[in-house]
Amino acid sequence: MSSKMMRGGYWDGPYSMTVMDVPQPDVGPDQVKVKVAYCAICENDVWISSGEFFEVQPPRILGHEFCGKIVEVGKDVKHYKAGDRVACNMQVFCGTCWYCHNGYEHFCQNIVQATGAFAQYAVVSEKACEHMPDDMSYEHGVFLEVTSAAMYSVERAEVKMGRSFAVIGGGAKAQLELMIGRQKGACPVICIDPSEVRRKKALEMGADYVIDPSSEDVQEAVLKITKGHGVDHVIESSGIPENCSLACDIAAACGTVNFAANYLPGTKCTLDLWQLRLMKQLRVHTSIQSPYLFERTMEYLPRMEVEKLITAIRPLEELNDAFLQQRDHEEFKILIKPWDEKID
Ligand SMILES: [Zn+2]
Ligand SMILES: [Zn+2]
Repeated sequence: MSSKMMRGGYWDGPYSMTVMDVPQPDVGPDQVKVKVAYCAICENDVWISSGEFFEVQPPRILGHEFCGKIVEVGKDVKHYKAGDRVACNMQVFCGTCWYCHNGYEHFCQNIVQATGAFAQYAVVSEKACEHMPDDMSYEHGVFLEVTSAAMYSVERAEVKMGRSFAVIGGGAKAQLELMIGRQKGACPVICIDPSEVRRKKALEMGADYVIDPSSEDVQEAVLKITKGHGVDHVIESSGIPENCSLACDIAAACGTVNFAANYLPGTKCTLDLWQLRLMKQLRVHTSIQSPYLFERTMEYLPRMEVEKLITAIRPLEELNDAFLQQRDHEEFKILIKPWDEKID
């Protein structure tokens, strides 16, 4: 570890973040050191910080949706230099294992993680970086990772022009899925969420219809909107297990369903297999992360009005409160800003 220090936000217990002086991470030969402009709080970060997800445990610095300016590069780095503005993936894949060779890099057996980016600096492999266009703000570029996950989720739902599309849930990733689905030509686009704030945002992001499951019969409402067919492409983005069966219930015959949210280990749900196969012949998919999509996402990102989802920008020193704000309120994206000064 380097002897230089920085401010970093340590996750040290369930829903507890302590910001303190920590050593700056060292830069390996193929890595770059990024002065973090913003790191967004991801729904996954809040989920992980509960401690219920056994694979990741404290103490550690979280934060994986980040962008900033490169301040140092390792001796073998070829495509980046100090001063470059980049948005990053949290992990880099080996490119040589069976999974990487067969189109499933997100199941790579030799993943190297970036250092956590709820800190003033993060270190990451150059392979996990994407150059940001000169006219893209950091407030925009910080959406690279979550947008790539939304793109993958929409691709797995096989959304098509002129076909109906519904997203169950209205969090940040769900809102991006709605926007991408609409831009892909899906019609009509429907959002199902009990929160009025989220339904309102969904209309702003591209939904044609919103349904409140706490006061409406969802299936009835969907049939009315889709002229009795059901929805051709459904994404379950709420993380509520029962909504996986709801997704199949509202799907049209020969439609596609994609379960794209987090479910805790051991989560079970009951699906009506008679309906799923005999009555509908559904294609049921899941999606996790966004294999091979970062470059394409950076190409596409300028077209996405992602800033509409920023609900707060808070200094790193307020990380703990920001996490509680994300957990307890209907926030879309809270950006954490580790530096007082503006990074150009
Ligand atoms: Zn994320
Ligand atoms: Zn691999």
